[in-house]
Amino acid sequence: MSQSIRILVIEDEKNIQSFIASVLTAQHYHVISALTGQEGLSQAASAAPDLILLDLGLPDMDGVEIIRRIRGWSAVPILVISARAQEDDKVQALDTGADDYITKPFGNSELLARIRTALRHSSAIQTGDAQVFRPYRCRGLCIDFEKRLVTRDGREIHLTQNEFKIVSLLAQHCGRVLTYDRLITHVWGPYSENDNTILRVNMANIRRKIEPNPAEPIYLFTEIGVGYRMAESDESV
Ligand code: CA
Repeated sequence: MSQSIRILVIEDEKNIQSFIASVLTAQHYHVISALTGQEGLSQAASAAPDLILLDLGLPDMDGVEIIRRIRGWSAVPILVISARAQEDDKVQALDTGADDYITKPFGNSELLARIRTALRHSSAIQTGDAQVFRPYRCRGLCIDFEKRLVTRDGREIHLTQNEFKIVSLLAQHCGRVLTYDRLITHVWGPYSENDNTILRVNMANIRRKIEPNPAEPIYLFTEIGVGYRMAESDESV
């Protein structure tokens, strides 16, 4: 690795800032630290980071406002750090353009996994890699997007058109959370009157069909109050 990946960490709590810096530096990432929103914004512009870790609870600025400003000129992956109680903030952050979030307190393996997922997704977009069209494979489950075919352990699973749309979008963004709004808009359109109920019903049906044990899902995870996340594909782990 000749040129290290640059990660900007915008976080006002010094102990979390240094924990993150030590974890990332050990993995040969280059860390740029900012302790305020203003500092973070100027570093985002001047240091050209490959990824931004952003704490939503900053003393000087609203984290969502920072995302909005950065998204005005950059598609750099933004991973939000939030407290468990900030569910509305997480949703707002994701709908404003954050790529994913991680909830405090988090361990280093979770942090590194989220970073790898976000970086892989952004490089796939930059290089025009058509990885999203390759079949999704995870623990016996296979989704072939071109053939519109879902199988588990070689047996075909019949999904309705909407169920297939939901599963495909989640699988194409596997490892990342997708908000209720994002999923509803994708399936029922931007002007749909849908609340989350119909999405939940669809999700329950999908789980019943694809999960070996719907009560303990291994493919489709609920992010309470935010949305859903599909397990990483075998190839990307
Ligand atoms: Ca904070």
